[in-house]
Amino acid sequence: MTTRHAYVTLVTNADYAMGATALARSLRLTNTAAEIVVLHTGGVEPAALQPLEQLNCRLIPVEHLPLSEAFNQRHARANLHTAAPFTKGRKPAFHSPLDNFCKLRLWELTEYDSCVFIDADAIVLRNIDRLFAYPEFSAAPNVYESLADFHRMNSGVFVARPSADTFKEMLTRLDQPEILWKRTDQTFLQAFFPNWHGLPVYFNMLQYVWFTMPELWDWQSISVLHYQYEKPWESDHPKADRLRPLIDLWQAFYTGDDVPDIAAMANPKEAA
Ligand code: UDP
Ligand code: MN
Repeated sequence: MTTRHAYVTLVTNADYAMGATALARSLRLTNTAAEIVVLHTGGVEPAALQPLEQLNCRLIPVEHLPLSEAFNQRHARANLHTAAPFTKGRKPAFHSPLDNFCKLRLWELTEYDSCVFIDADAIVLRNIDRLFAYPEFSAAPNVYESLADFHRMNSGVFVARPSADTFKEMLTRLDQPEILWKRTDQTFLQAFFPNWHGLPVYFNMLQYVWFTMPELWDWQSISVLHYQYEKPWESDHPKADRLRPLIDLWQAFYTGDDVPDIAAMANPKEAA
């Protein structure tokens, strides 16, 4: 029987291919029945994709979206970071905001009934296959600093139904004169799906919660851990001291060596 469900991620360079390798290994460890699809652009050299092939991912080459030159200029890294600065953390040099919009190619995967998109900088800690039965558009809140964050969604994990019509409609809505999607696909998707269904925060636990809201942290509840802002494979990581147990965990999934029993991990207060 062929599965009509897929986990989908995106990689546009070798760094995010490393991220996707840890993600794919983590998904395999959950014994998922779904396929794992990696959308990749020409920016990724074949060697960087090899570990993903070994993990039996389905690799699908994609182009950037057909967007106007003016749109691309406004969302180029230097321009976007000036127009809408990041004040809470820093994006690694290998992060190109324009690449984020390639996520929308998921809606072209109409051979699948239901897809769960997961950012390449996340790992899955327990089986989440039940999400395929959740409605479009389901996503978790963008919580990393305070309760006010619950108003916004984070596009690092979401449930969607591929559809050529939806994809077409998205392209029309996306590229408007003068429009600036400050947080790229995330701002766009929240506007496109204003009635988004809220997933529990544990389906997309952002790493900063570890030190900003430690009382929210619970290893027994977290299904997806998402390393927003600084990445766990960065060599010059400005928050490495504060995020050490989380970085070590990512490394275990990346190498496949000594992956710990998640439910037995120490929560921040105990670890402190
Ligand atoms: N991404 C990519 N190359 C880029 C930027 C983004 O492949 O240059 C993909 C990758 O899957 C990544 C996701 O888009 O996980 C979103 O970017 P990121 O996770 O860095 O954003 P953050 O979670 O820090 O907001
Ligand atoms: Mn991310």
